[in-house]
Amino acid sequence: MRSSHRVALKTLGCKVNQVEAESIAAALIGEGAEIVAEHDADVVIVTTCTVTGEADHKARKAVRHAHALPQAPVVVVTGCGAVLDDGTLATLGDRVVVEADKALVPARVGALLGARTSQDAAPTARIGEGFHTRAMVKVEDGCDNFCAYCIVPYARGVPRSVPSADVLAEVTALRQAGAREVVLTGINIGRYEDAGVRLPALISAVAATGIERIRLSSIEPEHVDESLLSAIAETPAFCEQLHVPLQSGCDRTLAEMGRRYDTAAYAAIVERARKVLPRLALTTDVIVGFPGETDADAAETLAFLERLEFAKLHVFRYSARSGTPAAERDDHVPPATIAARATAVRDLGERMRLAHLNAQIGHTLDVLVERPGEGVARDGSRVRFDPASAESGERISLTVTGVDGAGFALTAW
Ligand code: SF4
Repeated sequence: MRSSHRVALKTLGCKVNQVEAESIAAALIGEGAEIVAEHDADVVIVTTCTVTGEADHKARKAVRHAHALPQAPVVVVTGCGAVLDDGTLATLGDRVVVEADKALVPARVGALLGARTSQDAAPTARIGEGFHTRAMVKVEDGCDNFCAYCIVPYARGVPRSVPSADVLAEVTALRQAGAREVVLTGINIGRYEDAGVRLPALISAVAATGIERIRLSSIEPEHVDESLLSAIAETPAFCEQLHVPLQSGCDRTLAEMGRRYDTAAYAAIVERARKVLPRLALTTDVIVGFPGETDADAAETLAFLERLEFAKLHVFRYSARSGTPAAERDDHVPPATIAARATAVRDLGERMRLAHLNAQIGHTLDVLVERPGEGVARDGSRVRFDPASAESGERISLTVTGVDGAGFALTAW
């Protein structure tokens, strides 16, 4: 591929999409392509998400936007939306190319640009915000939980794990390239298994590579068990942060969602996790307005969230995804009600986030510097400090002195 070939990436959806898009970029960089902004690109790769009807809408919008750019780029569409596409995506423009198999995207782009490509890419060529210091490492793909609202199992199939030897080779290469933290990423990472190596053993093995900090992108509640908590307890590199999707704080709604726990089980998991990691920052996902959710159910969710003192909430308004059981229900919540419930949960989330940050005041944090004046603490809090204090990639100790309007922990030496 000639070095003049310019490629842009537009990535929607989850962290797995991000890490997969980074791998595509790495393969293209390995062939001499340049990663540029969309308005400068010969090819725009749109990695889509199809988790909800709204996600499909955003994907189509991103494709149309790229196709309409003045330089008339080719738009390669991949990701879960491409896997479940019914033929709609290709109709969005005469330069739209749909490639459902992400592994084939680099070759497809190379062919489109009339050039040689290779599937081989150095793992150290990974790009992404802060990749010199923190890198996402995909260890698993797929899920077969079939939660009632979720299309992911249909789009990504059953769980498959990256061989542990490959994970360790990637972490080692990233560490040698300067990464100090890895985020182990997957769709349902608790289902990791490779020849008897499950997630707890994988975490221990990753720590043995010498990487300084480890965290998980997200883990389902049923997998936060004693063996995982023991591995975390014995791994000093494991950061005091867990993202454990709750989705609802109402037991009836959880059952109808097809989730595999109730609020009592979730609370017990959190209690055990907090014993292992006393300064744990617990973050979660919440879906508001699932079909059949009443005002009383929504109030239960608010009360449960408040009781568990989350450090951060990711709030999603339910939007029907055709092909899922929930979409077929006839008791959908009106959009205005969903919007009002989302606002209430977001407001609570903001209060809890600020409370978590304020509780850090006076504490000394281990901060990984991502860019001048900004870094990430072990608990995931973003920290701002004097830009002259440290270089990107350094790990420094900072004492929190306050919280600014944007919710950053402000610090001084
Ligand atoms: S656990 Fe449920 S919500 Fe998560 S990917 Fe699997 S089916 Fe979807």
